[in-house]
Amino acid sequence: MEAITDQLETAFIYRGEPIRNQFPALHQSVYGKPLVYFDNAATTQKPNAVIEAITAYYSTINSNIHRGVHYLSQEATEAYEVTRNSVAAFINAPHAYEVIFTKGTTDGINLIADTFGYSYLNPGDTVLISAMEHHSNIVPWQIICGKRGATLKVIPMNESGELLMDEFERLLDDHVKIVAVTMVSNSLGTVNPVAEIIKIAHAKNIPVLLDAAQAVQHTKVDVQDLDCDFLVFSGHKMYGPTGIGVLYGKEEWLNKLPPYQGGGDMIKSVTFEVTEYNDLPFKFEAGTPNIEAAITLNTAIDFINEIGLENIERFERELYQYALKQLSFIQGVRIIGTAAHRSGAISLVVDGAHSYDIGVLLDKMGIAVRTGHHCTQPVMDFFEIPGTLRISFAVYNTKEEIDVFITSLKRALTILI
Ligand code: PLP
Repeated sequence: MEAITDQLETAFIYRGEPIRNQFPALHQSVYGKPLVYFDNAATTQKPNAVIEAITAYYSTINSNIHRGVHYLSQEATEAYEVTRNSVAAFINAPHAYEVIFTKGTTDGINLIADTFGYSYLNPGDTVLISAMEHHSNIVPWQIICGKRGATLKVIPMNESGELLMDEFERLLDDHVKIVAVTMVSNSLGTVNPVAEIIKIAHAKNIPVLLDAAQAVQHTKVDVQDLDCDFLVFSGHKMYGPTGIGVLYGKEEWLNKLPPYQGGGDMIKSVTFEVTEYNDLPFKFEAGTPNIEAAITLNTAIDFINEIGLENIERFERELYQYALKQLSFIQGVRIIGTAAHRSGAISLVVDGAHSYDIGVLLDKMGIAVRTGHHCTQPVMDFFEIPGTLRISFAVYNTKEEIDVFITSLKRALTILI
């Protein structure tokens, strides 16, 4: 692996080629213009290695797992469990059986909200989340709090989009049963002080769930270092396929929680009278999983590992700072989310132009951005705006693409204002 230098123009090399060449979707024209893909916080494009792995799976070992005595089933089962081991190494989980495959981040949070809620939430109890959560880390808790008579409380933030840690400590009273916060905000880019949050919560024996959907693809996440109780993320935001995600949980917690769904694979034995549940991780993996996606997630992890998360983080930080600097030269642009520590996404609004209209014009110029509330409506309410225009980066983006974006944004604003 040839690492990048300080010059952004120098591309990462993967399998002997600059990595952009490995992403076929990046080499298309949209409305006759070369595509600039800046919607990576929503989902990343996939490298050839992942695309080929998907084809290879269906062309060779396609079969159901954990069930068959036959060759294909054994091969598929082994490949599925290889990914579980890779995921465990990727986040430094102590044991592979603490890695549960889910459909994605949303599915993982719902699993914990539901199983933890039914076991530990009672009337008068509190679930503590933050003001910048994705709807995925709000609504499941609202639902379970409603069912259990518990209360959802929110750690507030300031105008920069930083959590108020004093308020967090004040809210963390004896009623709080779990804290669930995002590591990185998908709409503001804020990197939250989650290690500190965990330390403070643990001093009161309160478990913490981390939403790592916008973290694991950008920086090294070490669950033992953080000492988080649960961590969730999605494969499709880290160069892998859709329909696969990860829930990491500490063994002691996963053993204490009841199963989420019933069905095949999550049992040891079943009679009409009683069922004995399977051991971890299978207890939480009812039914046929997304086998292809789980197996090919391994290829996405290989891709990230080969480039190196330290290199990715350094490179993306440079892109981020460069974009912020170029945006600062455009009159009327206001960055929403100005926390000292940010990564991944930049949100902006422009005086006199609606972000949706800017997004539509940028699309016609071949630039894919996201507009709207980004599934964080309370964040938009806090800033009293209907939505933002968001750009977000991945390892294949370039400084030149930012230049194209800046020129196109200026053109769009000339049309709109
Ligand atoms: N949490 C955060 C911070 C996100 O950015 C997202 C997706 O954008 C999610 C949760 C939900 O992820 P998924 O739709 O893959 O379940």
